Amino acid sequence: MANNQKEECIFCKIITGEIPCYKIYENKFILAFLDVNPISDGHTLVIPKKHYENVLDCEDKYLEETIKAIKIITNHYKKNLKCTAFNIANNSGKDAGQVVNHLHFHIIPRYKNDGLISWPTRNCECEKLSDLCNKLSLIHKK
Ligand code: AMP
Ligand code: ZN
Repeated sequence: MANNQKEECIFCKIITGEIPCYKIYENKFILAFLDVNPISDGHTLVIPKKHYENVLDCEDKYLEETIKAIKIITNHYKKNLKCTAFNIANNSGKDAGQVVNHLHFHIIPRYKNDGLISWPTRNCECEKLSDLCNKLSLIHKK
């Protein structure tokens, strides 16, 4: 296994071919394959060919290539599936639901009236939003 991959990582093993996958697309930087437990028809995972844990530690070049591949694949699915929309999702960290610790983006094709539930929203007081913005904004205040 190359030193940019991790011995015990199942997605690194998919990259090397040690574990099979239903390959959809690949180039020098990324690999895309069907999720084995699909949320909808065409549920696809896009991963960098180098082991990064999640978005936080991923090199910009690999992130760029991953997003570019997502654009290619979603446009391709739009033409070849009857889907009308997509959820493009990433779980970064255990508490966000990340199970496989190799960065991956989910492409989940959505179909009219497919019954899947989008994530819930809640109301938030303006004061709280303002406090959070003051605390977190990266834009320098004069
Ligand atoms: P996450 O919860 O974001 O870490 O998602 C991990 C995803 O990887 C799940 O949707 C699994 O169904 C999928 N998965 C796990 N093992 C494989 C595999 N060998 N081939 C394809 N998909 C997999
Ligand atoms: Zn890996």
